Amino acid sequence: MTTVLFVTSEVHPLVKTGGLADVSGSLPPALRALGHDVRLVLPAYPQVLARCERSLTLIKLIDLPGVATPVRVLEGVLPDTGVPLYLIDCPTYFDRLGGIYGDGTGDWPDNPQRFALFSRAVVALSQGWPGLGWKPEVVHCNDWQTGLIPALLSLEEHHPKTVFTLHNLSYQGVFPWGTFVELGLPMALWSMDGLEFYGRMSFIKGGLAYADLLTTVSPTYAREIRTPVFGYGLEGLIEARADRLVGILNGANYAHWDPISDPHLSCRYSSTDLSGKATNKTALQRRFGLPVRPKVALLGFIGRMVEQKGIDLVLAALPDLLQHPVQVVVLGAGEQVFEEGLKSLVASFPTQVAVQIGYDEDLAHLIEAGADAFLMPSRFEPCGLNQLYSLRYGTLPVVRRTGGLADTVVDATPENLASGRATGFVFGAATPVGLTGALMRALHLYYNDYSTWQRMMAVAMAADYGWDKSARSYADIYQRALDKRVDI
Ligand code: ADP
Repeated sequence: MTTVLFVTSEVHPLVKTGGLADVSGSLPPALRALGHDVRLVLPAYPQVLARCERSLTLIKLIDLPGVATPVRVLEGVLPDTGVPLYLIDCPTYFDRLGGIYGDGTGDWPDNPQRFALFSRAVVALSQGWPGLGWKPEVVHCNDWQTGLIPALLSLEEHHPKTVFTLHNLSYQGVFPWGTFVELGLPMALWSMDGLEFYGRMSFIKGGLAYADLLTTVSPTYAREIRTPVFGYGLEGLIEARADRLVGILNGANYAHWDPISDPHLSCRYSSTDLSGKATNKTALQRRFGLPVRPKVALLGFIGRMVEQKGIDLVLAALPDLLQHPVQVVVLGAGEQVFEEGLKSLVASFPTQVAVQIGYDEDLAHLIEAGADAFLMPSRFEPCGLNQLYSLRYGTLPVVRRTGGLADTVVDATPENLASGRATGFVFGAATPVGLTGALMRALHLYYNDYSTWQRMMAVAMAADYGWDKSARSYADIYQRALDKRVDI
C-alpha cells in the first residue's frame, strides 16, 4: 500500500477544461480500489468550494511568500468517490469569475504567481505537518501548473518521491526571467538543466528535469515527444531522461461513459440490443435541428476548437464530403476563426451541418451515443478520451495515426477486418486529403456493407479501456520510484 498525494489543477466533477480533469477524477479512485491511500489536492476555485462547501473543514493555515494573509488548507471528499481532497484556498489568486486558467480573451496574467503559490502549498503539505497525521511517500504531479513541485522538493533533504505526468507538452508555462526573480525561487534551480529555457523560466521543466519518474498518457506519445516535431524544444531533455519515462494509456471511466447505464441518453443500449442507439440518433438530429434521417450517416465532433484537434482539417474536408449523403454535428469552443468557419459551413449546408458553440457535458454524451462515426483528426493527441468513449458507444472513430489514437483505434484494413480486430478508420497525413480518404472509406463501408460496420461496432464496444489496468501500471511506477528502481 502506497500513500500518494495526487496534485492537479482540475478534477471531474468539480471543475473541468479537458482530459486532465477526467484522469484526476478517475485514477485516484481506481488506485484506492487497489488498496492505495491516494489523496487529491487542487486549488479552491469558487465552483469547487460551492460544490464541496458542506463537507469542508479547515485543517491548517500556512504563511507563504507572495500573499499577505495566510493560505487556508481545507479538507473534504471528492463527491461520489470517497477520495480525500485537500483544497488550497487563497482568494487573491483563485476566487475570480471566468475560467480557471483565464477569461475568454486569454490566460490570467498572474498564472505564474497563482500556480507557484499552489505549488509551495503542496510542498508544505507533502512534507506532512503536526496534526495532519499523514505524509505521502509519493507526490504525483500533473502538467505545467504543478511543475515547480518536483523542483522545490528536490531541494529538501527528506522529501517524498516524485512522479510527473505529461498530459500535453504543448502547454509548458514559460514566462520571462523576471518572473523567476519575482517569485523568489532559489537560484539553485536556474540552469539549463533546471528551470531555464532559452533565457526564460519554464514550469514544465521543473517536472521533466527533477521528478524521479516521468510518465505520459500513451506509449506512442512517449516516443513522439522524444522527436523535434512533438518535443517543442524539450526533446533533448526528454531523450536524456528517456530511461525514466513510460507511456501509460488513460482509461475511460465506464461509470460515467457506458451506454448501458448512461443517464444522459434518451435511451440506453448495449452491443446485444442496438435499437436504443437509433433512438439516440433521432434525438441528436432533433436536438441540433437537422432533418431526422435514420439511414444517413451522422458524424460527430466534440472538442476544443484549436489546431491540435484538426478542426481546420475538418473545415477544409467537409465541403467536398457534404456532396455525399452525410450529416455532421459539432460541439466545442475555442478559437474564433474556427467557430466562424463552422458557422459559415452551417449557413451553406443547413440540412447537413449543425454546430453548438460552448461546453455541454449532457450533449457530449448524446453525441457519443447518437452519431454513427466520431471525428478526431488530431495533429497530435497525447491520449485522447473521446475516441475511447466512442468505441464503447459503438460510434466508430475516424482518427489520425498519432499518440493515443494510434494506440487505441484499429484501422479497417482488409487484414484487420478479416481478423475481426478493426474498430475504426485511421489515416496518416495531417491534410484535408488524408482525412477525406478515411471518411470516404468509412462512408463506403457504411452504405455498402453495413453488416461489416455492425461487426466493427461489436468489436469496438467490447474493447476494454477501463481504469483498472492503467491504475495497476501507475501503482507499479510508484513502487519503482520507492524502490529506487528507476530504470524502466
Ligand atoms: P483534451 O484534454 O486535449 O481537451 P481529451 O480528449 O483528452 O482532450 O479530453 C477532452 C474531454 O473534454 C472529453 O471528456 C470531452 O468529452 C470533453 N469536452 C471537450 N470539449 C467539450 C465540450 N465543448 N462540451 C462537453 N465536453 C467537452
